[in-house]
Amino acid sequence: MDGVKPRGAKRFARFNRTANRLATRARNRNILPSIWMKSLRVEIPPIQNWSCHGCTDCCRNHLLVQLLPEDKQRIEKQGWTRADGVDPGLMIVGQGGHFRLGHQSDGACVFLDPSGRCRIHAKFGAEAKPLACRLYPLVIHPAGQKVVVGLRFCCPSVAANCGQPLLEQKAEIQKLAECVALDHFRDIPPPAVLAGPGTEWPDLLRFVKWLDTSLAVKETPLTLRFLRTLHWLGAVEKGSFSQISGPGADEILEALFQGAGKKLPALPESPTRPGRFSRLFFRLLVLEHARMITVEDLRAPGRHRWQMLRAAWRFVRAGRTPALREGLESVEFAAIEQRFEPVSPAIEAMLTRFFRVKIQSLHFCGRAFYDRPLIEGFRNLALLYPVILWLGRWLAAGQQRTNLTEADVARAISMVDYHYSYSPYLAWRVRLLAQRDEIARLCAWYGR
Ligand code: SF4
Repeated sequence: MDGVKPRGAKRFARFNRTANRLATRARNRNILPSIWMKSLRVEIPPIQNWSCHGCTDCCRNHLLVQLLPEDKQRIEKQGWTRADGVDPGLMIVGQGGHFRLGHQSDGACVFLDPSGRCRIHAKFGAEAKPLACRLYPLVIHPAGQKVVVGLRFCCPSVAANCGQPLLEQKAEIQKLAECVALDHFRDIPPPAVLAGPGTEWPDLLRFVKWLDTSLAVKETPLTLRFLRTLHWLGAVEKGSFSQISGPGADEILEALFQGAGKKLPALPESPTRPGRFSRLFFRLLVLEHARMITVEDLRAPGRHRWQMLRAAWRFVRAGRTPALREGLESVEFAAIEQRFEPVSPAIEAMLTRFFRVKIQSLHFCGRAFYDRPLIEGFRNLALLYPVILWLGRWLAAGQQRTNLTEADVARAISMVDYHYSYSPYLAWRVRLLAQRDEIARLCAWYGR
């Protein structure tokens, strides 16, 4: 691991960024007064379940676990030796003034034992682990007078909604939130709705509420919900409604939401095919989300870049996909692009939950997403809808199917969320597609 070139290391350090950012905040945090602790308002998405099922995916595939100084000191004092199965010389790796956990030769975390258990957890309990490990897959974002909780759907248990309702885990989540929230989190300004400063938290949260309402409409295909939401957000932009404020704003947003329902009563029978350049941008976006980065890639970033360049060329030509990772076999692009069977209600529910949790937890704009305004962040999120369906189709096409299963979609969601808010974000691409109305077209085309 010490042979990793700085450039490659920098690139891969985007992993666990949210946890790291929260950890950095915790590092600079003073001990909070207990009265403050009691007053921390934590909002948890009521539609999500999660319990760790010990699949060890996060201990094998999340390459960089950054350590706080106190994590490092604690682990060093735990007295690990080779007899415990841990090489003390490889346990912690220094890089650019920071420290992170090392890896075993197969890429797994240095503390993962052969039975799939964390050695720190087994010997000293959960609280002895690094904060980033304790937090995963939760993410915690400031939202005015409260913090909101979201999840990383790259954890397969989150994607599949397995385990105990999050609401029933409020006490533990509250403790973690208190570890990572900044003292001054209430002073953090909200993201803009469209551009520029001036938005207040209650107004921003009003928009968030209507976005969530718009995606939660029952007995309406999710594709149509996206088209309507993109439509009324377009009306906010064109009608200069981004600065609306106060209780009257609710009435305006409700009118725009209802208006979109009347304007788009049903899905188009024959959706318009997205333009050539949009399809090209879109395919490259899919490739960014489909790639897998391993410890081997970390060790040889040049080779990995070369492999990705070759894969990108295949995606530009759109003849046959490369075999990219397990399940994503080499198939004809035409096999993915053909019309698939309609998705089941269970798949619609899974996708709806993914997007609603991202919205409810503000994991699509502001600090959690490259400081982007709400509308741009939502448009980027909407682009993930066709990306997930395309990846699900790729998984299905590898097995000569033209129907999506829940397992295909859960896997596609995990792949997409693995990169979400960690990969380079090209704001111009989202703006260009939005200007040409191509985001709605891509949603309609791949949602057909
Ligand atoms: S990926 Fe999720 S379910 Fe698997 S070990 Fe990590 S937290 Fe647990």
